[in-house]
Amino acid sequence: MSQISTTPTYDAIVIGGGTMGTAAAWELGKRGRRALVLEQFSIPHTLGAHGGKTRVIRHAYAESPDYVPLVRRADDLWQELEAATDRQILVRCGGLELAAPGYGHAARARTAAVEHGIDHEWLSPTDVHRRWPGVTIPDDWDALYSAEAGFLLTEPAIESMANEARRLGVEIHQGEPVIGWRLDGDGVRVETGAQVYRADRLIIAAGAWSSRLLGDLGIPLEVRRKTLFWLSVADATPYRPESLPVFISDSLHGEIYGFPVFDHAGLKIANHAGGDPTSPDAVDRSIRPGEEQNVVDLARLLFRGIGPGIVDSTVCLYTVTPDADFVLDRHPVYAQVAIGAGFSGHGFKFAPAIGESLVDLAFDSASQPLPRLALARFGQASATA
Ligand SMILES: Cc1cc2nc3c(=O)[nH]c(=O)nc-3n(C[C@H](O)[C@H](O)[C@H](O)COP(=O)(O)OP(=O)(O)OC[C@H]3O[C@@H](n4cnc5c(N)ncnc54)[C@H](O)[C@@H]3O)c2cc1C
Repeated sequence: MSQISTTPTYDAIVIGGGTMGTAAAWELGKRGRRALVLEQFSIPHTLGAHGGKTRVIRHAYAESPDYVPLVRRADDLWQELEAATDRQILVRCGGLELAAPGYGHAARARTAAVEHGIDHEWLSPTDVHRRWPGVTIPDDWDALYSAEAGFLLTEPAIESMANEARRLGVEIHQGEPVIGWRLDGDGVRVETGAQVYRADRLIIAAGAWSSRLLGDLGIPLEVRRKTLFWLSVADATPYRPESLPVFISDSLHGEIYGFPVFDHAGLKIANHAGGDPTSPDAVDRSIRPGEEQNVVDLARLLFRGIGPGIVDSTVCLYTVTPDADFVLDRHPVYAQVAIGAGFSGHGFKFAPAIGESLVDLAFDSASQPLPRLALARFGQASATA
């Protein structure tokens, strides 16, 4: 007598229902795949990489012009998501990329803008002050303005990707941590405390927890503790999105970026540079005295109306590769497994485009990883499907 399997079976399982996992889920739903997302916490939550309410989106990409096609695709998809859900996700307030003498961020952003024909303006410090009276930059600083830039609202973004995925038939389990996965014929078996599941394909998008699921690959991923602050402003009027773009400032204070006042008291500001190595279980989630000093010093230099107080703060996790480029590839041995990891503190803006790539890598044997993001750069061959 043949045995009837009681193991729930899917076309694809996604481990991690955070930024990239919900993006992959949305794409799986759009392609009509029978899919399951397993998230250890809730969707969204504040214990991983997507806490802190907002994320910068910019297109003149100082890190490398190679990222521009990916952010353009993501921007189209963010707009598609807004239209599908009738919910605001992207606030297009423009972006200012600033650099002190000897610091290259603004010039590198201009290189990407020129290479990809992105509208931009190279402004003098006087132009900047005239245009945004709340901002004063030193006379010898560089400034690039891009009107396409702005910020994304993380909770509406992740909730909307998850909701659209559900509407399209994807199953999403919250509060169900994955204990492990292994091969099962041409597919995979995934085990949680509650159940064993089977799927033809696996997508691993586990953020700061990635090394636990990919430990044997030895991908060089470092988890870093990052702090975010909301600084008090005497009068919020000159700091709202109508009057202030998102900004990134490269100087001796660090690579400090910030947002206009929106839906939360205070001006949000943080330092992209630095951060202590940690692990998601051991991380100190309290703010230590003096940790805000760099961002307060920079804010006082640029904005006259910043008060001394800190309205709010939080701790978030970066998962960083040695070259700060992402890992977006197939497993080097098992072609049915796609991996999205090491988003190095700048992945959110790309999420829906990363979701598409993860699904392509999992299902389409002709799809190739972008060389810049491939595991091969760490000396690992990619599996051929
Ligand atoms: C402070 C801060 C500021 C940032 N600013 C920007 C910015 O301005 N612009 C920008 O583009 N990017 C920014 N980023 C980066 C961006 O937020 C991240 O690159 C992105 O959120 C990473 O997504 P992820 O899916 O890898 O991680 P996450 O969103 O954390 O998702 C991983 C998920 O996997 C789940 N998981 C892990 N292990 C398991 C398991 N075993 N079982 C079940 N579930 C599991 C986790 O619970 C989590 O929900 C910032 C990041 C931080 C921390």
